[in-house]
Amino acid sequence: MIGIRITRARKAAGLSLRALAEQTGVSHTTLNKFEHGTLTPSSEQLIKLSRALGVRTEYLLRPERAEVELEEVEYRKHTKTPKKVLDRITADVLDQAERWMELLDLYPEFPIKQFAVPASVPKVITDYEQLEEVAEAVRREWGLGENPIPDLIDTLEGEGLLVILATVPDRTRFDGLAGKVGGQQVIVVSKSIPGDRQRLTLAHELGHRLLAGRLAADLNEETACNRLAGAFLLPRRAVHEHLGSHRTALEWRELYLLKHEFGISMAAGLFRAAQAGVISEALKKRLFAELYKRGWGKVEPGTPVKPEHSVLFEQLVYRALAEDFIGQSKAAELLGMSASQFQQNRSLTETGTDAAAHQ
Ligand SMILES: [Zn+2]
Repeated sequence: MIGIRITRARKAAGLSLRALAEQTGVSHTTLNKFEHGTLTPSSEQLIKLSRALGVRTEYLLRPERAEVELEEVEYRKHTKTPKKVLDRITADVLDQAERWMELLDLYPEFPIKQFAVPASVPKVITDYEQLEEVAEAVRREWGLGENPIPDLIDTLEGEGLLVILATVPDRTRFDGLAGKVGGQQVIVVSKSIPGDRQRLTLAHELGHRLLAGRLAADLNEETACNRLAGAFLLPRRAVHEHLGSHRTALEWRELYLLKHEFGISMAAGLFRAAQAGVISEALKKRLFAELYKRGWGKVEPGTPVKPEHSVLFEQLVYRALAEDFIGQSKAAELLGMSASQFQQNRSLTETGTDAAAHQ
């Protein structure tokens, strides 16, 4: 058990066996035996390891949860991303997923509802246009109306989809991935991209959850999920309301304002304008060419949309503490805080960063 954790922490730290050996003074052959479970580290070695790996010894000793599984690892498609980098992302995600598992296990009753596809989503979807109505129906069922969704993570969590924000190294392309933690659906999204990109990823992954097994054979699931994501974040009626029903030209500033009202990129807004029939395909193409010419294909102009955040995990840790399901030290461990950090956090005397930033 410890072996798996050492391997994971080492990969998360981006260290080779030899580099770890150098830092700990433990030979790489011994380290290799630790990792393969043929030898158990002494408590002294454990302390050296945890220091070198930047984890607490509790992390290395924590039992493994079997029920963590991640699937549809979409970032694997970006084969240019070095394996080492992918390993680091996975290690962080697994660590968070396991803490989720442990926390949920500590509750006598599961505190989160089980995700269910709304009954109004048709069993068979035969064309992309139909996804406009699917998005509207889901919004209706979830009580979202036609307004912007201010906090998408909160909305998804409320429907039983857990969200893990993953630490992703700079300049790494990472779209997101989905999986299950203890039977609970989980979506993983990068912590370090602008909010509009996170939201599109989250809505796209929601699309997979809603549409799996329902698309006619001639429909591409990725295309369908993108369409659904756009329609969910910025419904057709809202496009008409904000841009009008038929336009022969658009000002960039209009797309910028729409971006900040609905948390959807200008590029995605442009797609929505065409999908909602507000602008012609020809105009969409012309505007896209201009958008790329201005360099906005890579980074959009003006203030970025603020990243999404999640407080559910921390809330549930404190709820478990208040209800005596766990004690202080377990709460601190789950939050990844030292005892003193935790005391400050609990007593609301923390200075500087937001409490949720510890995650
Ligand atoms: Zn996808």
